[in-house]
Amino acid sequence: MKERLKIKQIHQWPLYKGRPLTICGPCSAESEEQVMETARQLANLNRVDIFRAGIWKPRTRPNAFEGVGREGLKWLRDVKRETGLPTATEVANSGHVNDALKFGVDVLWIGARTSANPFAMQEIADALSGVEVTVLVKNPVNPELNLWIGAIERIARAGITQIGAIHRGISTYEHTAYRNQPKWLLPIELRRAIPDIPLICDPSHIAGARKYLLEISQKAMDLNYDGLMIESHNNPEVALSDKEQQVTPAQLLELLDKLVLREQESNNSAFLDVLGELRSQIDLFDDQLLELLEQRMYVAETIGKYKKENNITILQSSRWEEIITKAVRKGESKGLSEEFISQMFKAVHQESINHQNRIMNS
Ligand code: PEP
Ligand code: MN
Repeated sequence: MKERLKIKQIHQWPLYKGRPLTICGPCSAESEEQVMETARQLANLNRVDIFRAGIWKPRTRPNAFEGVGREGLKWLRDVKRETGLPTATEVANSGHVNDALKFGVDVLWIGARTSANPFAMQEIADALSGVEVTVLVKNPVNPELNLWIGAIERIARAGITQIGAIHRGISTYEHTAYRNQPKWLLPIELRRAIPDIPLICDPSHIAGARKYLLEISQKAMDLNYDGLMIESHNNPEVALSDKEQQVTPAQLLELLDKLVLREQESNNSAFLDVLGELRSQIDLFDDQLLELLEQRMYVAETIGKYKKENNITILQSSRWEEIITKAVRKGESKGLSEEFISQMFKAVHQESINHQNRIMNS
């Protein structure tokens, strides 16, 4: 039988002041001055609900900045004393949990590399047993829904009831405009599996670059997420981690002001609700189509480089014949007309050639 987890809906969280729950602060705590100055500026916006800062940083490669460690916990305590903002930090083992709790950190989040590891998740859950604290679980680095659900279950079974999920996308091998592939269906499926779970979007790590933060945040709001976690630094240019994606508190305010918050409830008929739901599914598929096309072009460019190195022409008509014949046949079995498939594939093929041409002649 499916286990019903005891998870508090977001309006029951004392931290929640309305949609979106806004969690902001630097990727990493770097110095007392940087933490305090960023926190003061963020508190002055009157728009931020929780101050975040990474104290222990899981870095992909050694020698990158790995966080200031326990010393930073004092700064978080001071942030709370001075600004009144509740604080949040990332924990990856029981030692981190115990230290963070000792310094009164209000919200613990579990990073994507940790939520992918059931041993680490169980250790954290054991350390949290009997504790009252808010825990946010990021989606694991690999797109496996059950791993995410399992991580949440472990925390819930430890007796934590204020649990939220953070969607930060999936790390990829392919080169894409965003740093992570959003995979918007993953959190939607999570919500279907655990309907009460508050859902927070982390546009900073999905985007990897400031310029995409607004579009991703807006999409999250349109999909009815409950909150946003956005990295903000008093001087992003000199940040020791994730500098491309951090915004100043002033830029953060600008972003929050531009967000359009659509009402979830309306006096419209059920018909409109269903229509909205279907339309957001269409939007998701369109986004996925675009992401796939982007990846296809990236592979085409790689082939272009390879052909150039080996002095081979771009267009090889036998290969093209094979692609179009196969696509038409497959398309027909899926109820897609020959006319549509051949038009679409011709357009895609032409775009691939353009990408390869650019590579060949560069
Ligand atoms: C972070 O929030 O700074 C972080 C390390 O995120 P993630 O676990 O999503 O990579
Ligand atoms: Mn970061």
